[in-house]
Parts: sequence; C-alpha cells; structure tokens
Amino acid sequence: MKKNTFSRRTLLHNTVHLAVLSSAPVLLQACKKAEFRCDDVSGLSAQDAELRAALEYVDRSPHDTAKSCASCAFYVANDENQCGQCTLVKGPIHPLGYCNSWAAKG
Ligand code: SF4
Repeated sequence: MKKNTFSRRTLLHNTVHLAVLSSAPVLLQACKKAEFRCDDVSGLSAQDAELRAALEYVDRSPHDTAKSCASCAFYVANDENQCGQCTLVKGPIHPLGYCNSWAAKG
C-alpha cells in the first residue's frame, strides 16, 4: 500500500508559492505606476530644451528623495503618478527628478 507523502512542509511550500503568484499582478501594477517617465521634450522650443539640458535635468535624482523635484521650491505638482511642472525648467517634470537649480522649499 502506498503511504500518503503529503506533509506539512509540502503544504507550507505550496501555500507560499500560491501567495507569491496571487500577489504578482498587484506588485506589477505598483511598479508600473512608479516607473512613469517625464522625458518627452518634443514639444519644447530649442531654447527651452537647451536650458533643460544645461541644468542637467534627470527623471531620477541622484540624491533620492532628500533632493528631488517634489521637495524643490520650483516644483508644481500634478495628480499622483503624473508628471508635474517646474517654474524654471519647461516640459514634463518627474516628482523624483532633479536638476542643478534645486532649491529647498521655504
Ligand atoms: Fe526639479 Fe530643477 Fe525644477 Fe527644482 S528647479 S523642480 S529640481 S527641475
């Protein structure tokens, strides 16, 4: 007669796999929201694009959230997970972005 080999270890193992697989779509959606981009400068004049480049704007601050557009005095926020604006740098601005004109909010 064959012995039942289904153990608590197997049950735990399968439960963990099921939990990981069932949460994958939620995690994927969260990653997509965090990864929106604000680097389309196709609508800018040459002068505005040059200023943006001269100030070395990037979508991801090298200083993390300690110095990012969201904490800059010149940033104008939009809805969550959307590009904002800047009163100095034209074009779409990422809240996690940064440029050399960063200034702390007063
Ligand atoms: Fe971001 Fe620079 Fe504008 Fe500040 S000045 S909001 S750091 S682009």
